[in-house]
Amino acid sequence: MKLLEERIRRDGKIRENGEVLKVDSFLNHQIDVRLYNEMGKEFFRLFGDEGVTKILTIEASGIGIACVAAQYFDVPVLFAKKSKSKNIDGTVYVTKVHSFTHGGDYDVMVAKDFLHPTDRVLLIDDFLANGSALRGLMDLVYQAGGTVVGAGICVEKAFQPGGDQLRSQGLRVESLARIAAMSETQGVTFC
Ligand code: 5GP
Repeated sequence: MKLLEERIRRDGKIRENGEVLKVDSFLNHQIDVRLYNEMGKEFFRLFGDEGVTKILTIEASGIGIACVAAQYFDVPVLFAKKSKSKNIDGTVYVTKVHSFTHGGDYDVMVAKDFLHPTDRVLLIDDFLANGSALRGLMDLVYQAGGTVVGAGICVEKAFQPGGDQLRSQGLRVESLARIAAMSETQGVTFC
């Protein structure tokens, strides 16, 4: 998506020896809602005929784009919550996710009330790197017996393995910007 690529070129900041892209000024701290709206529309163009019944994302930075996209699909958004509480009464599905940005594993959960075997779920997230967040979200849907129709990603760092691994496992992954390489001196190269 040209609009997003141009914005990344203009306002993205490359950190951690070319491993991390900061997009705080328009994507995941301060938010450009007009850009979100164009991305939401594009996700609907890509997945609109898949019979999506629910959008699932992970807190916190996936929630905004998921909500904007959901207005086009006219479905609810469910977000996996980072939680320290145990599944004592069996009312939640829990899975483990490895944090790319902070390191370490953490549990995320959704209430069983909100995911069902009849659900056709679109996963949405801001970034795809090694794929742990998406794998965790897929696991939650599978625990509920639902169907994952695919994943809509704003920025895929295609030089990291998550996207290719998930595609080769049969997941439809659609990324609006795919970064082939990036470095503090050369900037960003798109696929
Ligand atoms: P993965 O689980 O695919 O390794 O990483 C995806 C998650 O890590 C996303 O939910 C996102 O929050 C975070 N993330 C991964 N890479 C980046 C990055 O380069 N920049 C930012 N801002 N977040 C990232």
